[in-house]
Amino acid sequence: MGFVPTMGALHEGHLSLMRRSKRLCDRIVVSIFVNPTQFAANEDLSAYPRPLSTDLQACKRENVDLVFTPTVDVIYPEGFEMTIKVGRLGELWEGRSRPGHFDGVATVVLKLFTIVAPDVAIFGQKDYQQSVIIRRMVLDLNLPVRIVVAPTVRESDGLALSSRNVYLDHLSREAATGIHQALIWAKSAVRKGVTRPGQLNGKMKRMIEKGGCFSLDYIGFCDPSTLQPLKSARPPLAILIAAKCLTPGPAMNRRYIDNVIIH
Ligand code: AMP
Repeated sequence: MGFVPTMGALHEGHLSLMRRSKRLCDRIVVSIFVNPTQFAANEDLSAYPRPLSTDLQACKRENVDLVFTPTVDVIYPEGFEMTIKVGRLGELWEGRSRPGHFDGVATVVLKLFTIVAPDVAIFGQKDYQQSVIIRRMVLDLNLPVRIVVAPTVRESDGLALSSRNVYLDHLSREAATGIHQALIWAKSAVRKGVTRPGQLNGKMKRMIEKGGCFSLDYIGFCDPSTLQPLKSARPPLAILIAAKCLTPGPAMNRRYIDNVIIH
């Protein structure tokens, strides 16, 4: 049995995980659950898109065998107390800007694994830090599930598909491609032998912030398995980016993340 956990507002990225799961497994289960414990008080939990009937139709088209759509009180019934503490891996990068976020993610994923009991679970590389944390949890807690991480699905101009892209207006949507462009540029510079993050940072920041629609939160040059920051940008290397949208309107203050792994 294959399992694809999601928060819904399904797009081609999610569908690619379902297709991968179909190729690996006889049966597939998709969960749709907007997990409140991974959102901080100032984040977009209530505004998170929840187009359930469209999502169910998409699952049907992909021949999903079962869609699990629990309500919050099913996952967190009265008296709920126990949570996962991710530790150091959850405090780096995204975790620095979103304290507690990965504890919420790990807790809900562990609960979903226990309820669904899959053999294989598929996650997207788009949320790279999340995939590393889930792999760590499976090892540390001896969970009987195999984790597969599938490539990021992108728009034709390179922007990583995300449920939050619908909030971008014309200008910020165009500017958002700077995130991917910065990653591609950095990857090629690393391949050409540039090894100091300091030689890459400045130009990447300018590419991301060009036009004033986005403000860079971090560029992380790190070890792909431990996520520890690296002083030298020598492969194997993960480059992680987060940028916040500044454009007034529905995208304002939302975070957009992307990454590239260089082997
Ligand atoms: P979410 O619904 O945002 O929690 O994402 C559910 C799963 O879909 C996670 O494993 C994500 O990493 C994955 N995902 C999100 N966007 C993409 C994408 N553009 N390409 C591939 N996987 C993705």
